[in-house]
Amino acid sequence: MGDGVLAAVNVTCGYEEREVLDDVGMELRRGEFLGLIGPNGSGKTTLLRALTGQLRPSAGEIMLDGVPMRQQARREVARRLAVVPQMSVPPFEFTVEEIVAMGRSPHLGRLQSEGADDRTAVDRALALTHTRRLAGRPVTELSGGEFQRTVIARALAQEARLMLLDEPVAHLDIGHQVEIFELLRRLNRDEGRSILCVSHDLNLASRYCDRLIAMEEGRVVAEGSPGEVLTAERMGALYRCTVQVDTGPGGRPRVTAVGSAAGEQGS
Ligand code: ADP
Repeated sequence: MGDGVLAAVNVTCGYEEREVLDDVGMELRRGEFLGLIGPNGSGKTTLLRALTGQLRPSAGEIMLDGVPMRQQARREVARRLAVVPQMSVPPFEFTVEEIVAMGRSPHLGRLQSEGADDRTAVDRALALTHTRRLAGRPVTELSGGEFQRTVIARALAQEARLMLLDEPVAHLDIGHQVEIFELLRRLNRDEGRSILCVSHDLNLASRYCDRLIAMEEGRVVAEGSPGEVLTAERMGALYRCTVQVDTGPGGRPRVTAVGSAAGEQGS
């Protein structure tokens, strides 16, 4: 393994009934914007859960800054690693500001109330995500895009150098999709955050990520630049459909599914 800040080393991991990840090796390098792609059920969310310490591998090791994660205190991990899970609006009527302030909890001592640093971090997170004008609104009343920006703001307030996101633009319209990816790119380039993002949208991943990892059936099956990974042959095999690849914005590959494998067989 190279200079990975977060790495899975020969990780086998899953749920009570069965293993999902099968001897997975991958790393998030310092300062990179890494995309994780693969069909439904290929193990992307499970890998994310292993990388954040939510799931304990049955074999192998998750390494954070070169040290096994299981040897590190949860609080210490939370200061360095922020997670944006798949979109789910909390049932309680917290305001946007309250949700964002929750990002500060790894920095607060027991029974300690917010200090000036916490206030500054929350203000900055609200500004970067353009959510300040929503600060007093209950999150249960937000649009999908507004809520997603709020959850990203919470992760920013945490001031972690690593951010892991699970399909941050699912259910968002194309305008909000590019807005979120441009925000992530700014955080990556201007603030030096290392980002790992699960994306179903291959073209957003192609356009914004430095490097891609593709998963299939619990294994890493390809990794490299978008140009290396997003070939018509590989994507066709991975997603079981007929795929065309041409050149999209920024000279990056643009992937289009032009027919299902079932359709091909039938014709
Ligand atoms: P992806 O994110 O690529 O869609 P997941 O990691 O969510 O894939 O799922 C991989 C496999 O793990 C699937 O077969 C899924 O049914 C199974 N799985 C996911 N979550 C659980 C769970 N909580 N308990 C048992 N099996 C699960």
